Amino acid sequence: MKYIFVTGGVVSSLGKGITASSLGAILRARGHKVTAVKIDPYINLDAGTMRPYEHGEVFVTGDGAETDLDLGNYERFLDIDTTRSSNITTGQVYKTVIERERKGEYLSQTVQVIPHITDEIKNRIRAVAVAANADICVVEVGGTVGDIESLPFLEAIRTMRFDEAYENTAYLHVTLAPEVSTGEIKTKPTQHSVAQLRSTGISPDFIVVRSSTEMGEEMRRKIALFTSVEPERVYSSYNVEFLYEVPLAFEEQGLGREIEKRLKLETIPPSLGFWHDAVKKQRQPAFEVNIGFVGKYVAMGDSYLSILEGLRHAGIHNDCKVNIHWVNAEDLKSEEDAKNALENLDGILVGPGFGMRGIEGKILAAKYARIQQKPYFGICLGLQIAVIEFARHKAMLDGANSTEFDQYARHPVIGLMPEQLETEDLGGTMRLGDWEMTIQAGTRLEKVYGTAGTVLERHRHRYEVNPDYVQRLVEAGLVVSAVTPGKAQRGAGLVEAIELNDHPFFVALQSHPEFKSRPMRVSPPFKAFITAALEARQKST
Ligand code: GLN
Repeated sequence: MKYIFVTGGVVSSLGKGITASSLGAILRARGHKVTAVKIDPYINLDAGTMRPYEHGEVFVTGDGAETDLDLGNYERFLDIDTTRSSNITTGQVYKTVIERERKGEYLSQTVQVIPHITDEIKNRIRAVAVAANADICVVEVGGTVGDIESLPFLEAIRTMRFDEAYENTAYLHVTLAPEVSTGEIKTKPTQHSVAQLRSTGISPDFIVVRSSTEMGEEMRRKIALFTSVEPERVYSSYNVEFLYEVPLAFEEQGLGREIEKRLKLETIPPSLGFWHDAVKKQRQPAFEVNIGFVGKYVAMGDSYLSILEGLRHAGIHNDCKVNIHWVNAEDLKSEEDAKNALENLDGILVGPGFGMRGIEGKILAAKYARIQQKPYFGICLGLQIAVIEFARHKAMLDGANSTEFDQYARHPVIGLMPEQLETEDLGGTMRLGDWEMTIQAGTRLEKVYGTAGTVLERHRHRYEVNPDYVQRLVEAGLVVSAVTPGKAQRGAGLVEAIELNDHPFFVALQSHPEFKSRPMRVSPPFKAFITAALEARQKST
């Protein structure tokens, strides 16, 4: 097993996750089997309770872990399925060690950071690599070198060189070369950051320098000289227009080849055709669509990362540029507002969310889409919104709502299931991770997925369409296009997807298909939504 440890310095938010993922992508393109691990030095056991507006999206794995968004990057760039174990936090490590200590497993030893915490860190890293049966495991250490919190992790990866041998371990350090007001790009912070890394006992084998423009040969030599890393192992990570240019830029600078050399791996020529094509399609798309993304103002951007990626994949697979227009749900106060905000758009997406802010605006958006025959794609909360809207205005259930927003709703068309109400632990009642849905024959969803069978999508929600109202909604014309199959623990027959018949594309899912969308294997409903938006646009012009 080969390990590549990715650390970061100077500042956070350097795009270390994209660097680690892109590195993985080029090694995979060279025929190696790659997996990845993210280390987060915070105490939280997982990202489930953390604010997405601060930390970005909570990514959900197939086995139902709520994790760091970098796992999403690994899944998309490496085309792998990560698991609960792929995200290691300080909290998890200490919890295990403390539990073990209570059970008396350390006999009469004094339990300490070194070696007990560091051993547990190493065990966890190795376990992921072994479970994935990979040749190479990329380990990204979150945070910045110099943080107190990351020290035990740095110590653990430092000693892995001795446990695993020199040719099986490599250290890659990502730094920033900032541009000062004269336009000059400065190397000094990189020098300091490498010195700081060295003070922990780790000497980098590779350096990746983030900068706005591509770093020239002279600068590469300067950094190499200051840091004692060979110039051919110093790489420039400059701002690119399209995300998938990053792996291509690394490969072009020889990173893949140098890693193979350093880790004594077989040299395999890379096949990066897909990434080249994807960039080309994004650079010169045949078509263009405008999508309205209706959400809370504070949530725009990174908290919807996987959805934005899903739309990107759908664009590539439709040879189409997808322009996202953020529509602040709280600005939609009347039908007039909805019309003004949405009429020039080719499709409307209502995404996931918690809490009642912006709900009525989202309902107005769904109503506009339904009546004006605009393509509508609802994801999780976006389904619940569509159901509430339909109940109020088509099924004539005045005052219909979700009990999440109105506990005493006259018609609780969305609510908690009886078995959920029995437990007091709110977090524990979420439906998380892979759940099956059975697609009903003869629906649009059958065409979208190409099957009337059972498919897996990831979930992260607490409320369900209330089974007591399904019949009335169906009688008013709502189509239930997928349900939870019989063997589910929580209420078989729950509504998984809905659609409308007399509409070009009105599809909503209770699950989060974005978590399974990959550049090479776009999520079917994302692709179909963009196709529908494209058709709507062509019809209107
Ligand atoms: N708040 C809703 C629920 O808990 C929707 C969640 C979501 O969109 N992920 O059911």
